[in-house]
Amino acid sequence: MVVGVLVEVTNKNVDKIFDYKVSECHQAKIKIGVRVKVPFATRTLEGFVLEIKEDTTEDRKLKEIIDIIDDDIILNDELLALGKKMQEMTLSSLIYCYQSMLPKSLKAGGKNKAHKKFETIFRPIKEIDDSLTESQKEILSQFHGKPLKRSALKEISLARLKLLESKGYLEEYEEEVYRNSFTIGSKENYPLTKDQQNVVDTILKSSSSIFLLHGVTGSGKTEVYMELIEKALQEGKTSIVLVPEISLTPQMIKRFSARFGKRIALLHSALSDGEKYDEWRRIVRGEADIVIGARSAIFAPLKNIGYIIIDEEHSDSYKQENNPRYDAKEIAKIRAEYHHAKVVMGSATPTLESYARAKKQVYQLLTLPNRVGKGTLPTVHIVDMNEAIKQSMGHFSIELLTAIKKTIERKEQVILLLNRRGYSSFVTCKNCGYVVKCPSCDITLTYHKSSNTLRCHYCGYGTNLPKVCPSCQEDAIKDLGVGTEKIEEELKKYLPNARVLRMDFDTTTKKGAHEKIITQFGKGDADILLGTQIVAKGLDFSNVTLVGVINADTSLNIPDFRSSENTFSLLSQVSGRSGRSEKKGQVYLQTFNPTHFSIVNASKNDYLSFYQEEMRNRYLLKYPPYYYLVSVKILGKDEQICFQESLKIKKVLEKYLKNTIILGPNADTIYKLSNVYRNRIILKYKKEEALYDILNRLILHYASSSKVKVEVDFNPIHL
Ligand code: ADP
Ligand code: ZN
Repeated sequence: MVVGVLVEVTNKNVDKIFDYKVSECHQAKIKIGVRVKVPFATRTLEGFVLEIKEDTTEDRKLKEIIDIIDDDIILNDELLALGKKMQEMTLSSLIYCYQSMLPKSLKAGGKNKAHKKFETIFRPIKEIDDSLTESQKEILSQFHGKPLKRSALKEISLARLKLLESKGYLEEYEEEVYRNSFTIGSKENYPLTKDQQNVVDTILKSSSSIFLLHGVTGSGKTEVYMELIEKALQEGKTSIVLVPEISLTPQMIKRFSARFGKRIALLHSALSDGEKYDEWRRIVRGEADIVIGARSAIFAPLKNIGYIIIDEEHSDSYKQENNPRYDAKEIAKIRAEYHHAKVVMGSATPTLESYARAKKQVYQLLTLPNRVGKGTLPTVHIVDMNEAIKQSMGHFSIELLTAIKKTIERKEQVILLLNRRGYSSFVTCKNCGYVVKCPSCDITLTYHKSSNTLRCHYCGYGTNLPKVCPSCQEDAIKDLGVGTEKIEEELKKYLPNARVLRMDFDTTTKKGAHEKIITQFGKGDADILLGTQIVAKGLDFSNVTLVGVINADTSLNIPDFRSSENTFSLLSQVSGRSGRSEKKGQVYLQTFNPTHFSIVNASKNDYLSFYQEEMRNRYLLKYPPYYYLVSVKILGKDEQICFQESLKIKKVLEKYLKNTIILGPNADTIYKLSNVYRNRIILKYKKEEALYDILNRLILHYASSSKVKVEVDFNPIHL
């Protein structure tokens, strides 16, 4: 027997199937989709079995596989075919595609091998009789004739259990247990509102396969998803629910687990490798039929999928930014086609691409225009900081500060957003204007007050804050930017009695920290939840009646064609946290651009006007959804060579791509990163037959180059 194995080497040149012989002793266990250990050059590598063939005489010289790693299939037929499609769509290597589908412990060559967890069980096998002492009878009576885990018998010493075992009353054995990845919430079931029921009925009856659910914040989209999933369960079908990592809050998990209990599997980055491994196997074994998770949960090995839900479909987290650069929404469509499943994408602020498709009836559009129950959308005030700054206190206008005070007096709660997109707390010299940059990256360093250090957020470089300016030697280095720490300080100064919880990258790195902060705030342990983008999404607190945005417009200044869309979406989402129950909500947006259409339309909750105006811009500037984009990056350590090769690549592209607008090469947004120079060519096209072939040849050509690397990103999220 001969098998074709795809090994764990990620170089495009090695990305092909190699044949190995299988010795007699291994043949019974070989299946397509299991991992094997094989000799490769001078090393031992792991790989996936993709083919099984009869051997021929020429095969005699082949090397033999060393070992078979798995008893069960890791990649089933559907996932194997999906990986090949992904490779064609992303031009990544096939092994990358397969690896990205799997939890760490199931990847080929994955260093962290998770193992099954076992627990000792004791089972009564003989009736209690009078030969036993009273205390022994007491122990046995705890069993009520059923097996019990050792952990449930904690008060009883092991010696006493062993004694009962040796006397023939108990039997001891090991049983596999799953690590507990979540706790079940308590039940709360609502009858659907009329609007919700309409949406559910339409989806159930429709012959369309892709739906866009445009529902304002608090319109009860989650309840719609759960109802559809319930219907699928009744037909014996499974579902995937994708959520942005950031909104994978304990609140959302509680609602799902309250309704579906242990039929849920969770897949997200905060799980330990062991927990992920357990969840994965529960899915494979059919013990879970609802998978909730971030981007990569789209690969969950469910069978017979009924629904794929993509919540907050506008989130950029669905596109993977490194190899393979796949879009989970596109993968969802492929899987849905295979399973004859329906895809439901929901958002209060859909991407322009999705909404345009819905308008062209490629997707079926459904709307939930109102909040559930007595909730109404909040009143939004735009605070013109050009005026307000004259008498502001720190970063707060009098208006916002007064509103916070009043809210706290009413014993209600406040969420404050510091918009950190495109905004960093850099330090500069007040005397000469010197800005401290990373020595390896073309990036200003970010100041971290708690440790008094400067750090590069790209490569991790860190240094102490210099006492004097390295350029003019004056003692004039000042922290000019603003971080959440600074805002927290200001709150302490102006509202000394307010209790503030801070939620940002620094306070949520520890496992469970995010959940803890949310629970504390939900219990009313704080008046104000202050944070970055992380507070904008998914949170549902009925006592929050004020949302304040310190700086609504910083994200407008990013040189990215999506900056208006991102700003509109962020402001709409964060505003949506206010006034979610009967109590009326207020929102204050502090901005230096009070007339910008992103801000004005967000304040009016007017998605359609925003959509129309932004579509005009996209049309004029030839951006998506009118054109497709590809970003081709050329990376190299030698600045000259990198630029020369970039020019060559442009010439080749111009020769073969006749229906494409080719821009560049230009310096990438970050020109130098970890001492590597980066150039970028942008392609804009509507239809270009030759595109994939020519780009694939380009990547292959440079795969063996030691000087220059080429990276291709289809439909990039950021430019
Ligand atoms: P969205 O995801 O659209 O922002 P949610 O699904 O979070 O909205 O719902 C908003 C709030 O309304 C939640 O607190 C939810 O529990 C509640 N809710 C949803 N549907 C109903 C219903 N049919 N009856 C009563 N309350 C509901
Ligand atoms: Zn750096």
